[in-house]
Amino acid sequence: MRYAVVLINIKALGVKTFSYLIPDDMQDKIQIGQPVLVPFGRQGLVNAFVVGFSDYLPEGIKAKRINRILDETPLFSIKYLKLLEWVANYYCCDFVSVLNAAIPMKLIEKNSKTEQSVELTPMGELALQSDKTSKESGITKRQREVLKGLKSDGKCSLIDFEERTKTTRTTMKKLEEKGLVKFNLEYVYRNPLTIFKDVPTEPLYELTPEQEEVYEGIKGKLKSQQPILLHGVTASGKTEIYFKLIKDVIDSGKNVLFLAPEIALASQLTKRLAKKFGINDVAIWHSSISDGEKYDVWQRLYKNEIKILAGARSAVFAPLQNIGLIIIDEEHEGAYKQTSPAPRYDARTVAKRLAQFYQAPLLLGSATPDVSTYYFAQNNNNLFQLLKRYNNAPLAVPAVINMQEYGRTAYRGIISKPLQTEITETVEAGKQVILLMNRRGFSTYTQCKSCGTVIECPDCSIPMVWHSDGKKMKCHYCSKEMSMPEFCPSCGSDALTNSGTGTQKIEILVRELFPEYRVERIDSDILTRKNAHIELLNRFQKGEIDILVGTQMIAKGLDNPNVTLVGVISADTGFSVPDFRASERGFQLLTQVAGRAGRGEYKGKVLFQTYNPDYYAFRTAKSQDFEKFFETEIKARQEFDYPPFSQIVRIILSSMNNYRAEKSAMELAMRLNTMTEKFGFTEYLETLGPTPCVIAKINGYYRFQILIKNKLDKNGHEFIHKFLDKIELPKDIRLAVDVDPLDIL
Ligand code: ADP
Ligand code: ZN
Ligand code: ZN
Repeated sequence: MRYAVVLINIKALGVKTFSYLIPDDMQDKIQIGQPVLVPFGRQGLVNAFVVGFSDYLPEGIKAKRINRILDETPLFSIKYLKLLEWVANYYCCDFVSVLNAAIPMKLIEKNSKTEQSVELTPMGELALQSDKTSKESGITKRQREVLKGLKSDGKCSLIDFEERTKTTRTTMKKLEEKGLVKFNLEYVYRNPLTIFKDVPTEPLYELTPEQEEVYEGIKGKLKSQQPILLHGVTASGKTEIYFKLIKDVIDSGKNVLFLAPEIALASQLTKRLAKKFGINDVAIWHSSISDGEKYDVWQRLYKNEIKILAGARSAVFAPLQNIGLIIIDEEHEGAYKQTSPAPRYDARTVAKRLAQFYQAPLLLGSATPDVSTYYFAQNNNNLFQLLKRYNNAPLAVPAVINMQEYGRTAYRGIISKPLQTEITETVEAGKQVILLMNRRGFSTYTQCKSCGTVIECPDCSIPMVWHSDGKKMKCHYCSKEMSMPEFCPSCGSDALTNSGTGTQKIEILVRELFPEYRVERIDSDILTRKNAHIELLNRFQKGEIDILVGTQMIAKGLDNPNVTLVGVISADTGFSVPDFRASERGFQLLTQVAGRAGRGEYKGKVLFQTYNPDYYAFRTAKSQDFEKFFETEIKARQEFDYPPFSQIVRIILSSMNNYRAEKSAMELAMRLNTMTEKFGFTEYLETLGPTPCVIAKINGYYRFQILIKNKLDKNGHEFIHKFLDKIELPKDIRLAVDVDPLDIL
């Protein structure tokens, strides 16, 4: 081969591929995955990665030579690139966007670098032990603290240590001059898990007979090429079963990838894993670990030094070798899907492919499985269930408060008498309360009482939401903020009123009703304060908060045995969204939040306030009866050819100009229909639209959508991909393709 295709990270453009001539003396050394140095325009020599080879160049291009190979050990394999290529094909996006999502920038920009490490010298040790005053020893109080910190951390990266302990280089240099610490020039891996280093390890628990049966059952399916589903109610011991399986796999010399839907849950999980398997074999990966940490974990993974990798969505792209098992917990969570930007991948789908590459099993777990996952697992005989909590702790069965009856007497029409009574009794008994309101803000819309106009975001076709804490109106799509107008923009009347209910209003009402109780709120509005969310959860965990009000952020993962009451202010929210997954999402949310009550030895109570007590998804959520919900839901999906009976590809065309967006969407739909007919796919592919999206305008862009339902013809997807590949659109039209979209709003 004469040319190498390499990746370069260009500041303004992101990662792009270029071809370079391979000098003769490199011919038998160069390999895919190696970092190389290449000349690049005015930037001089830059770092790049070899991703392919070719004998020819596109016409008119003159290739420069590769300067040198930086490191002969490659950092990823051909297999790995094949997976990324598959992702690009499946999600109908370009390969480079997948590379950008998968490979940390640092890996491409910089390459194995030695860094200074720091450690305590014997003299430093002595100084710490002596009880001389700072005057006698010449060591300030601050310096002493630093030495103490270093003693507990052990030898570590200098930069990291400084960052962690907020120490300046000057301080460190002074300590070095005094001979109390020593700098070394060498590579030190940053292990984000050192925070868990004092956690004592624990043996695995003995499984209960029910758990044992499920564990044995799953073991019998480990050769299956199809995903295995563990449907187990909250706190039934799913995680304990995962641990047993993990132990088997690592004992057999293979590695495990374990995904959790969110960073916070992934961290909790990592801590639990480190406790069971020791910190050296476990690593964590998600979008918030630093580039440096990612770089280190990447290297260790590639060298096969890590046995268990836990992480959030993006960890599916970490180059874990020799995979023997992939586990995806809370598999129903929308967070596994990247909605924007491309690649709009679903980590579950990518994991399924990855598992097939390694002939490893994929185990999905949830208390409220995705309807499609459940359907396929059942059909493939890969379904396992744990329908009781560990220790037979009872699941709280929700009671329904029909607001048609209780609404009038409720506080401000919102908090019913029975809920008020339960709150009082719970807090008086020293227990804690969770109140779910799945909308943030104070009200949900502002309307003119004279002419009916609703104030919308000027750039998006959705109502602006009044936020009482910042005294501002906010758009929940583009984040635009404005102050509340004094007069109606249409008729000039001053009769503007806030309607609808959000978390901020609930917080205020609850504080009014219970001035003596400690009330706090968690929703994404508080996330502007760094770690505010974790701090509040910690305080709640410690019993410093009596009533926690929040959005779905408080429905997941929270394991506080002292919570005995969960109230859902408006259990209807969500079910009425015009989307085929609305019932599923509503069911999941209510079941999950109900699962927060009564996790300890005290029995829990759950109250749902609703105006539609008879709706099926609601009724089944009330009895926490997944199977009943599934039976009704799957029939509706079948009738309308929604997943799992079809695969949906959503195409959105948008433009600042409404007419041009619509026109190009119509042209595209027409061309699609013609091609579908020409290639004989009419029986399998159904094209819907174009129609304006439910949210017709976002950020000034008018949006039109075309939905393709592929009724599971195996060549249909390939056809769609090829069709989209050839599309050329005018510059002012934006195209977004979403394969298996989460919603169609
Ligand atoms: P899930 O993952 O289904 O929510 P967990 O595995 O977290 O459930 O189990 C809930 C709680 O019960 C945890 O504190 C767990 O340690 C405990 N538990 C579950 N099974 C066992 C067991 N066989 N022996 C001891 N404790 C168990
Ligand atoms: Zn008006
Ligand atoms: Zn907006």
